Amino acid sequence: MSIREIELLGSEVLRRPGEEVEAFDDELRELVRDMFQTMYHADGIGLAAPQIGVSLRLFVIDVPEDHVERGQEAFRAAVVNPRVVEVAEETEKAPEGCLSIPGLEGVVERPSGVVIEAFDPEGEPMRIEAGGLVARALQHEVDHLDGVLFIDRVGPLKRKMLLKKWKKARAEAEEEAAAL
Ligand code: ZN
Repeated sequence: MSIREIELLGSEVLRRPGEEVEAFDDELRELVRDMFQTMYHADGIGLAAPQIGVSLRLFVIDVPEDHVERGQEAFRAAVVNPRVVEVAEETEKAPEGCLSIPGLEGVVERPSGVVIEAFDPEGEPMRIEAGGLVARALQHEVDHLDGVLFIDRVGPLKRKMLLKKWKKARAEAEEEAAAL
């Protein structure tokens, strides 16, 4: 097992639609273990394969109890080749962040519930029905597999503002590094 490097905004692989997973083998399961480890290390609740530079339709998610609104259960899974088969008509607005865009947050409107059909890393079909934060996290991760980031869903004005903030933060980080 190893912690992988997380790709940041600006990396081409984050914008590339992932390929379907075809082999449910030991290599895939090792990748899943690495992804969980990388996600926990970065203190995230979801991580998609493109975020570690692997252009496959696969993500891991772990929404723990203390993140979950009342009446909802914690949810942990590795989700392969997901298909969104149903979304709620009702939408909800809530702030989101992303491990590939650290330090930035924006309010995103998404369907409040979602049904997803997918496979687990053994190749067994699975069906996920979720609401609340789990539904939001699932939709955020599915977006990653299509090359879509949350900043694409915050509205043009807010997006511009976030990108400006991002560029400034990156420039400052580079200056700091150079000063060492
Ligand atoms: Zn993300």
